[in-house]
Amino acid sequence: MDSSVFAFVEDLRGEGVERVLDKISGYGAAGVTVGAVHHAARDVTPHGLSRLTVRHDGAHFTPPGDLFSGLRLRPPAGHQDTFDGLREACAERGLRLHGWAVFLRNATLGRAHPDVTVRDCFGDRGSPADLCPAHPDARAYAVALARAVARLGVDSVVAEALHFRPLRAERSFVPLGPMDAYMFGLCFCDYCMRRAADLGVDAEVAREECARILGGVLGGDPPAQGEVTRAALTAYAGPDVVAYARARSETVTTLVSEVASAVGDEGSKLVFADSTGGVKGYRDGLPTPGLAAHDSWQLGIDLVALGDLVPAFAVLAYARDAARVADDLGAYLRSVGKDREVRAVLRPGYPDSDSTDRLVAKARAAKAAGAAAVDFYAYGLMPHPVLDRIPAALAEVR
Ligand SMILES: [Zn+2]
Repeated sequence: MDSSVFAFVEDLRGEGVERVLDKISGYGAAGVTVGAVHHAARDVTPHGLSRLTVRHDGAHFTPPGDLFSGLRLRPPAGHQDTFDGLREACAERGLRLHGWAVFLRNATLGRAHPDVTVRDCFGDRGSPADLCPAHPDARAYAVALARAVARLGVDSVVAEALHFRPLRAERSFVPLGPMDAYMFGLCFCDYCMRRAADLGVDAEVAREECARILGGVLGGDPPAQGEVTRAALTAYAGPDVVAYARARSETVTTLVSEVASAVGDEGSKLVFADSTGGVKGYRDGLPTPGLAAHDSWQLGIDLVALGDLVPAFAVLAYARDAARVADDLGAYLRSVGKDREVRAVLRPGYPDSDSTDRLVAKARAAKAAGAAAVDFYAYGLMPHPVLDRIPAALAEVR
């Protein structure tokens, strides 16, 4: 069974490439998945160069001029020497090298070019980090970025945030129900509305309904009850809103298709990472009841369609329970096709795994459900005693 450990460029710079790769190789992992393009964050890093690491939006390589010269969006510069010699250092240890790229989550680009970010039903652009997958400039950027990462000579390009993202307000003292928050996160930019209209959806009615219902909740109406499902959303907001939400999958499917082709042209392979499992279980490892594969439509992800276009998928199996991991992987394989490569991303420590036994049980469950690989997230975020659980998990699935 294939495997890898996610690592950040700050891990490699802080502890040194040799030491980090030796550790990962020592766990028995088959590869390392290095963050080639990442978003800004402030992370507790238990064994890093500093214990609190500030990351910036940026690409950790020199963007090839021929790919970006005609484009309005270019990746902010990160640590451009990160990949120098990295492939050779991996090869010396028999490790595969994967390039992990965050695509449409970039507040630096969004603040510089607000028109490429999502616009809510009230007409506001309040999510500078969220570039809209329907905007032509964001799409051109994504394709160029994918080519650039593939050209680093990586075995695969792991694509994160190559779809719509949910609303992430930092503070809200209005009790928004899951459906309220979902509608608040829908993009109604000109490009999204045009694409929906082209598919026969009354986009303006959908926008008005969202604004009317959300306006009521912001004005004191009780929030929506219950999780987001198509049936519940139809009952709450009407068929036009549901049709609008579903039309978003055409935007994402066509973008992912272009990106997958570009990566293939450059001699690498796209791994599409679907954030749905992360959205559901990120905070506490207790995901909401619906399986990730059944809820991914909410982010514009049509797994059945993507199954024909994308060679590999990464499922964020952020859950404490091994049975849940198995259920999520099984549902995913049924959606994308049993012959697709589906990788289970596991967190070896808090908040998902409190012991080696629990991690081992989840690796075993992923394999039994049909996963082709397990990946561990992430080297620099987990204390060493937690990382030391990985060898037992890999021994179980070898
Ligand atoms: Zn949009």
